[in-house]
Amino acid sequence: MLSGRLLEQARGLDAQDPLRAFRDEFYLPQTGLYFDGNSLGLLSKPAERRLTQAIEDWKRLAIDGFTQAQSPWFYLAEEIASMLAPLVGARPDEVIVANSTSVNLHQVLATFYRPKGRRTRIVIDEYAFPTDVYAIQSQMRLHGLDWHEHLVTVKSRQRLIEEDDIVARMDDFRDQIAMLVLPGVVYTTGQLLDIARLSEEAHRRGILLCVDACHSIGSVPQRFAEWDVDFAVWCNYKYLNGGPGAVAGLYINRRHLGAAPGLAGWFSSEKAKQFDMAHEPSFAPIAGAYQIGTPPVLSMCALQGSLELIQRAGIEAIREKSLDQTRFLIKLVKDELAGMGFELATPEVDTRRGGHVALAHPEAARIGKALKQAGTPDILRLAPIALYTRYEDIAQVVLALKTIMERKAYLEFPNVREEVA
Ligand SMILES: *Cc1c(COP(=O)(O)O)cnc(C)c1O
Repeated sequence: MLSGRLLEQARGLDAQDPLRAFRDEFYLPQTGLYFDGNSLGLLSKPAERRLTQAIEDWKRLAIDGFTQAQSPWFYLAEEIASMLAPLVGARPDEVIVANSTSVNLHQVLATFYRPKGRRTRIVIDEYAFPTDVYAIQSQMRLHGLDWHEHLVTVKSRQRLIEEDDIVARMDDFRDQIAMLVLPGVVYTTGQLLDIARLSEEAHRRGILLCVDACHSIGSVPQRFAEWDVDFAVWCNYKYLNGGPGAVAGLYINRRHLGAAPGLAGWFSSEKAKQFDMAHEPSFAPIAGAYQIGTPPVLSMCALQGSLELIQRAGIEAIREKSLDQTRFLIKLVKDELAGMGFELATPEVDTRRGGHVALAHPEAARIGKALKQAGTPDILRLAPIALYTRYEDIAQVVLALKTIMERKAYLEFPNVREEVA
C-alpha cells in the first residue's frame, strides 16, 4: 500500500480508539517511535505525581512518612498489592510487591522447592530468562543437587513451546518433578502459554507450578486463582510502567499461605507485631510474609501512580486494544515487508499471542540497531503498548523497517547485540 494511504488508514483507527486519550498521560521519549515498552514502560504523569508527593513527604515528614504520608509507607506494599490483585485475578492477601523478580523467584524456591526422594526436578522451557535459570541452579546447589541432572528443559518446535511437549516431559519423569517454572508469555517470541491447562496437568501429577509473568502482567489479564497457579513472580517496570528497577510482584496461592518464608526478614512479620522486635518471628498470614527487608518506598510510589492509570483504563480494554494492535502490526509486516526475509516468530492466533510481536531475521541485530533498538540475536521485538502507542506509530515503524530493508541501511552496523540489548 502507498505509505500515505497506510498512514491515513492508521489515523482512522486512532480516531476510533476508546483508549486514545491515555497517551497524553505519558512522557514520550524524544527518539519518537517507542516499541520497547515490553522492556521498560514509560513514565506517566500519575506516576510522576506520586513520586513528587513521596519526595515532599520525605522532606516534610521524614521518619513520620511511614505512618503519616498520604499513603503511609509502612502499609504501602499491601496497599499496592490490592491494586494489583484484579490484574492477576487473585485476592489481595495472595499478592505482595517486594524485592526484584529474581529475588522473588529465589523466595518461592527457598520456601516451596523441597526436593524429596526422587521428586527433585524442576522443568523450564528452552527460552527461559537467564535470571530464572540461574536462580533455580543456585537453589539446587544449596540442596546439594547438580542442576545438570535435575533441571529439565523443554525444547521448542518451530520457535513454539508446545504445551503437549511440557505434559510429555511430566510423564517422562513421572514422580520426579517437584515444580514447573514457566512464563505466562515467552519473552522472546511473545507466545502465550495455556497456563490453565498446564496447571491442571501439573497438579494431577503432584507438581507445583510457578509462573513468571514478567511479559504477561499488564498485557494479558492473568487469572491465577481461577487457573489455580501455585505461585507467580513478575516485574512491574515493563507493561506496568513502574519505572527502572521497580519493586517486583509476587503471588502465593491461598492454600500455601502460612508457610514460613525460606528467606525471612523483619518485613515478613505480621504488621502489629513487627515493632515488638522479638527474636521469635510472627510471620504474616498473607503473601506479605514473603517480603524481606524495608521496601523501596520511592519505587512503590511511582508504581502506585502508574497502577491508578491502568485501573482507570481497565485490563480487559488494554488487552482488547493490544490484540488489535498486534494483529494490525502482523498484517502490515506481511503486506509491506513481504520477501525481505522476515519470519513471524509470534503465533497469529489471538489465544496464543501476548503483547509483543517478534520477527526473526538473520540480520535482526543490525536491523534493530538501524531502528535504534537492538533485539536478541536473530529476533526483533516490537511492542505496541495500548496506553500510549498509536496505530499511526505502528504504520510508521513498519514503513521505517521497509526503508531500512530497501536501502540496506542496516549494513552500516555490525550484526552483534549491544552490551544492553
Ligand atoms: C525482565 C524479566 C526478568 C527480570 O528480572 P529482574 O529481577 O527484574 O531483573 C525476569 N524474568 C523474565 C521472564 C523477564 O522478562
